[in-house]
Amino acid sequence: MTAKLQVMKFGGTSVGNAACIARTAQIIADGAKHWQCIAVVSAMSGVTNRLIEAAKRAEAGESNAGAEIVDELRKQHEAALVTLVADENARTSVRVKIEEVLAEGKRLCDGTALLRELTPRTLDAISSLGERLSAPLVAAAVRAIGVRSEAVEATDLIVTDTYHGGAEPLMELTRVKSQAKLQPMLEKSIVPLVTGFIGANEEGQLTTLGRGGSDYSATILGAAMDAQEVIIWTDVDGVLTADPRLVPEAKTIPEISYREAAELAYFGAKVLHPKTLNPVVKAAIPVWIRNSFSPERLGTKITPEGKSIGGGVKALTAIRDVALISVGGPGIVGVPDVVGRTFSTTAELRANVLLISQSSSQNDICFIVSAADAAKTVEALRKEFAHDLAHHKVEHITVDPNIAIVAVVGENMRGTPGVAGRTFNALGRDNVNLIAIAQGSSESNISFVIEEKAVKTALIATHREFGLEKPSN
Ligand code: ADP
Ligand code: ASP
Ligand code: MG
Repeated sequence: MTAKLQVMKFGGTSVGNAACIARTAQIIADGAKHWQCIAVVSAMSGVTNRLIEAAKRAEAGESNAGAEIVDELRKQHEAALVTLVADENARTSVRVKIEEVLAEGKRLCDGTALLRELTPRTLDAISSLGERLSAPLVAAAVRAIGVRSEAVEATDLIVTDTYHGGAEPLMELTRVKSQAKLQPMLEKSIVPLVTGFIGANEEGQLTTLGRGGSDYSATILGAAMDAQEVIIWTDVDGVLTADPRLVPEAKTIPEISYREAAELAYFGAKVLHPKTLNPVVKAAIPVWIRNSFSPERLGTKITPEGKSIGGGVKALTAIRDVALISVGGPGIVGVPDVVGRTFSTTAELRANVLLISQSSSQNDICFIVSAADAAKTVEALRKEFAHDLAHHKVEHITVDPNIAIVAVVGENMRGTPGVAGRTFNALGRDNVNLIAIAQGSSESNISFVIEEKAVKTALIATHREFGLEKPSN
């Protein structure tokens, strides 16, 4: 009979310093008493941002960017190592690994500075260094408290396409590689300590799964290894009714469905990478979100069906880093296939289109993309419609970056009339101006486009309107 398997993932704050890593190691050790465990770790908090910053400085020609970041990272990881691991031989073996990764990082940054060129492939290689440093450190901390553990680089497990900066897993190949590498370790009661965030294409070239991608790594491995559950350990008590940084009265949701959690993640709830739930849907593997700073609390369980609550609205979320693009003018009625051409342009760019709204008069097509995609999308559209713009059939292609989307999420909204109306009223009472509104066909999400500066007011007003601050069960 195969033993029960749990995949646990620890985010940046859960491995942010020696004290956090000690707590994380204890959670792993406790889990390993009852389960076979695979642990996935992020870089120590802030490290990925600093690596990307160093890569950009190198691209700008700063020849000391590599040396500086490498020195900082050496100090940071060494400080944690000496606190966590007492045995000098054990420290030495971690140091050897850390130096190897740092030397590679320095070479990558120096090469970038020399060429003044930062390809997506090199950026992936540089931004992956944080996980490649944290995994051996955390594995050593777990061994130091008496549990067998070995660091494993996810380049040996997760096979992806070659889309650098947002690669997609190839699940069948990932399954074969992960089983071959991890199963023998699990059978020897060794906890594989896997680097989150990264994978490799079929040629072995390193890729990353996108910012915040370690959540995704955990569910990819959960599915590939037929785990019974995945636990995402973070710095809050689960999935909350809204981002607690914006809505202080937000409450933990005890149970939520895959669809609801995916909508929240997709519409900006940072607690989950947007693709986290994709790999586990088929096998219906439950995913827990729990607080590594308070492991005694239960957190949130994400399940296929969730658990319905009275009012239908489960949670709110907002995305700020977006821009509203509009293509229009009275003449567009006569232009063939404006909609098709607009969205084949965005598809070609792989621009992330979050919301679409078209007025019935067809004078205007508005859609929202990630801020990072806005400039290139507008440029490509101007090219696509150059002829129509010159002949005044399309009168404008404009972009407004000062907007945000607020999404109201809940699977039971389907049967609950008046959710949109109540949201309108709540926003109106607090003078929040509505720019556009869209409802997904699933009816588990109603999205409002508002001015960026009104996000906090809008969230607080809507949260109160639906009584989300009250205990749900
Ligand atoms: P990790 O480093 O563990 O991956 P993240 O910072 O990526 O953690 O995600 C956790 C953060 O997500 C929380 O600290 C919280 O501020 C934010 N967040 C946004 N929306 C929500 C929500 N609905 N529920 C819980 N946390 C949320
Ligand atoms: N370290 C990566 C990031 O900061 C991945 C993650 O933390 O999930 O984006
Ligand atoms: Mg995260």
